[in-house]
Amino acid sequence: MSTPEQASKDPEKENNQKGDPIQPRTPPKMETLSSAEGDADEKAGSSLAQPTCEEDKGTPSDTLELASSDFTKDTSTLTKSTEPHTEIPEKDKTSFSKPLSEKDTVTPSSSSEQVYEYSPVKSGTLTSSLPEQDAPNTDVPEKDVTESGDHHVEPPQEPLPQVEEQDRGDKAGRKKSKERRGRRESLRAVMARKKKEMKSTQGTAANEEPVADPYDNATSCIRLTRGRTGIVYEVDLLKHKCEWDDNHPECPKRLSSIVDKCIDKGLFSQCLQIPNFLRPDLYEKILTKHSAEHYEKLKTLCQSANLTTMEHVASEYDSVYFNNHTFDAACRALSSVLNLVLAVAKQDIMNGMAFVRPPGHHAMYDEFNGYCFFNNVAIAAEACIKDNLAKRILIVDIDVHHGQGTQQMFYDRKDVLYFSVHRYEHGYFWPNLAESNFNYIGKGEGVGYNINVPLNVTGLRDDDYLAVVFYLLLPVAYEFNPDLVIISAGYDSCMGDGKGKMLVTPGFYSHLVSLLHGVAKGQIAVVLEGGYFIPTLSEAACLTLKTLIGGPCPLLDPIRNIHPSVIETIRHVRRALYGKWNCFDICEFVVPKQNVPDDEEDMYKIQYFGKQEGTPYATRTGYPENTVPETYYFARINKALQEKYRASVSLPYACVYDEKMLAHTPQRGDIERPERPERLTSIMKGFTDYGIDKRLLRTKITKHDWSVYSPHIPNYLEAINMGLLQSKDLYINEHTRDSVNTAVSGLLTVIDNVMNATCRGGVAVIRPPGHHAEHRKPGGFCFVNNVAVGANYLNIKYNMRRILIVDFDVHHGNGTQNMFYTDPHVLYISIHKDDKGKFFPPKSPRSYKHDGFGAGKGFNINIPFNRDKMGDTEYIAAFQHVVLPAAYSFAPQVILISAGFDAGINDPLGGYEVHPETFGHFIMMLRPLAEGRLILALEGGYNLTTTTHAMALSTKALLGDPIIMPKNIYKNFSYHAMLSIRDVMEHFKQYFEVFKVHKKLPNKPVIIRRIQKFTADTYARVLFKVLDPDRIDDNDYVETEMSILNALAC
Ligand SMILES: [Zn+2]
Ligand SMILES: [Zn+2]
Repeated sequence: MSTPEQASKDPEKENNQKGDPIQPRTPPKMETLSSAEGDADEKAGSSLAQPTCEEDKGTPSDTLELASSDFTKDTSTLTKSTEPHTEIPEKDKTSFSKPLSEKDTVTPSSSSEQVYEYSPVKSGTLTSSLPEQDAPNTDVPEKDVTESGDHHVEPPQEPLPQVEEQDRGDKAGRKKSKERRGRRESLRAVMARKKKEMKSTQGTAANEEPVADPYDNATSCIRLTRGRTGIVYEVDLLKHKCEWDDNHPECPKRLSSIVDKCIDKGLFSQCLQIPNFLRPDLYEKILTKHSAEHYEKLKTLCQSANLTTMEHVASEYDSVYFNNHTFDAACRALSSVLNLVLAVAKQDIMNGMAFVRPPGHHAMYDEFNGYCFFNNVAIAAEACIKDNLAKRILIVDIDVHHGQGTQQMFYDRKDVLYFSVHRYEHGYFWPNLAESNFNYIGKGEGVGYNINVPLNVTGLRDDDYLAVVFYLLLPVAYEFNPDLVIISAGYDSCMGDGKGKMLVTPGFYSHLVSLLHGVAKGQIAVVLEGGYFIPTLSEAACLTLKTLIGGPCPLLDPIRNIHPSVIETIRHVRRALYGKWNCFDICEFVVPKQNVPDDEEDMYKIQYFGKQEGTPYATRTGYPENTVPETYYFARINKALQEKYRASVSLPYACVYDEKMLAHTPQRGDIERPERPERLTSIMKGFTDYGIDKRLLRTKITKHDWSVYSPHIPNYLEAINMGLLQSKDLYINEHTRDSVNTAVSGLLTVIDNVMNATCRGGVAVIRPPGHHAEHRKPGGFCFVNNVAVGANYLNIKYNMRRILIVDFDVHHGNGTQNMFYTDPHVLYISIHKDDKGKFFPPKSPRSYKHDGFGAGKGFNINIPFNRDKMGDTEYIAAFQHVVLPAAYSFAPQVILISAGFDAGINDPLGGYEVHPETFGHFIMMLRPLAEGRLILALEGGYNLTTTTHAMALSTKALLGDPIIMPKNIYKNFSYHAMLSIRDVMEHFKQYFEVFKVHKKLPNKPVIIRRIQKFTADTYARVLFKVLDPDRIDDNDYVETEMSILNALAC
């Protein structure tokens, strides 16, 4: 731990082996952009060789037209086996109204046949297909409701801010009513939406007016495949170094070590090299973010001055040095960054990484600062906006220092969202600015588009950074829905770095990039900023590149706990942004206690103890460094970690399917069954239409004797066959048994492939489904619980001890839950429709309170949804707030997914409206876990169009393709879904520390500054004054108040 005094100075000595002459290695032969193959590259080729910004975005290629025409081909092949349900006998139709079956919500109609078919997508027919989801299920006996329902209470009265002081009374009252109004409005909005939907459904039925096509995102995804990864690197950048201090941490070796390592690992040869020429329009670009004097100053100084003058000039700036090559290096670094970021924005490449120095994020309009001269990232972002290549850009700054330069450049802008997580220590840490705190959220129309996550302690780990990602970054990124993500990748937040003093492992950066892959269709440009401990710097940068290429993320340790200070920071950030982002509506406010006037829980503290250095700045000393044992220790840990990072980059994904599973059909004259063979044929056709069948390793199903792994009673299948075990939803024919065996064997075949490392993951296109099948009885349409057999197989045969099952079928997987209810090796997470116990399956214990038993306590997570018609927002929110944090806490070795698509839009059973692309995002979010060992097993999904698209998109996500963002994420966030998610987080705090992040927000803002002269070991915190809560986001006001307070203190 450094003392704050040490920490408050930025330039620190470094741990890198000094004096090594830099031997720039010649990069291996690489494809350059212009010579590359592939459609994206063909488009790009000429343009990058002769760079201009005017280049066309590119028109949809031929492949698109081909694919979509394929897509609209007749599905006549499917109609072959539809006899059993072409006509529904009148008397059978009545049987749909029987209570307690999955069929309850089916509205049998003569049109339902074409409607649920996967076929040319026409909006007109689709709207007529909307099932009657809202019809209350009056058939359910009341006792089921009480037995199986969970125990949500009515939404509690919104706790409201209360300010004690009298003179604040009326303002607080105004705020109170404003907040109440906000809440009421959001409920009203939900009601209005429902009304509008009903109206539009009726309207279109009558007028045949087209409505928005729910499959347009899905069909647009057909042509979207994983593109190339670009890199840019420039040898001349190594000439910029500190001539008067050989130990300066911002040294050429930083860059050469990364490049050497990437070459050693064969990563560069998998990338496309982006040209690194000096751009002719560079000056013009620089002027968008810096003054002309700023540019001239650097140019003149570096080209004419001697070292003594340079050091003298350097002392006028905080933490910079110059030599004769600095200007050239800064220009080349910026050119490289521009070339790379523009290539990503133009979609010439999907993503890429710029290996450059000097860094940029501290460079301000007319001030050099913190080793930075031109703000590379800011200038590149501005160029993309100006050239109309992006409308919204997300900049994620993970450098351990706050990028104040970037913040200032977009502070009043809403088209560029700046998100920075940095060491702050209430201003003790460099750059010691009040503006790095969480209350600086932007101004003017940019309010809410500047997000600072100040970390007030050192020694923070992956757990803490992941919590920031789950609870702040991902929700905001999904809601913002940018066209481009730029990561200011400073690796001084990585362990071993003498400046950062954090303990984040190199593997974390891999997960960060992978989790952001869902945003902006995977268009991510990573730009190197800081990072000064060579071993972890180079390791982390390599892992970042490897993830961009599509390699699996390494296993991280399970999340154990989140530092209380980080929980507090997250709480404050959410408080500062409450009302600006809908995703934070999930938070509640603390109810102030009547008899405790200054309750800590109710305090919203803005603390600032910083003090900036004045000129002349030190140019040679003052870098705190690691001790020798520390350096040795971290280098060893890094080496040990590398062993974990070895997973190879390219493994195929398996797919199993067999026509045998089509033979299980309803008998002629039987009632219509939604679970029918066309589900599989349609999915397989979808795989062809999407072009993914060729990319999957189609594996022949090996017959498995799975009796040893069966979770069912002995002779279970025989008993079903003999009619001894029945369920009213089941139908059986002479092929059923064979179909069931094939389905189970199919899943086990995929598991074998994955566990034998011939495949990374895979999909089992199987039926009948399994998750309702119990130990001693079938249920729903399920005979044998495929996924449960699979989990047992993994446990017994492959010795897997941490198996995660994620079940997003709209129905609760009661069978799976019960089979592992006492098992701590299997974490079961289910998101399902509950509707206060009225939904299928009846009497299933599926509240969040059903959390396991005995050793399995806490290893069963139910996320039950009630009342509203849930859609993309609610499911994404459940994933980000519950599924991901729980999964990262469990750190599974392998993930089985009960992939049911009946929560999908227009599903006749589910009645929810999740769009197909959202299912793809589920897979994308889980993909970084378990080193990519994800295995999908089909469960439900009865609208063929939705199911086919959703299965194809889930598989594409598995393959690493980008998936388009669902529309309007976090808009119209269902209040009842928020209640459910809150309940789950609250309940599981006892088992998973990560959920402690979810805390009620404070109301009362206070500003705390030191009043005594600072001493190294103590600082006094004095609570000064309660600020006007209505103006707390107004930084000018806060600043004025603070300066008054300071004056009083002195
Ligand atoms: Zn830094
Ligand atoms: Zn289902």
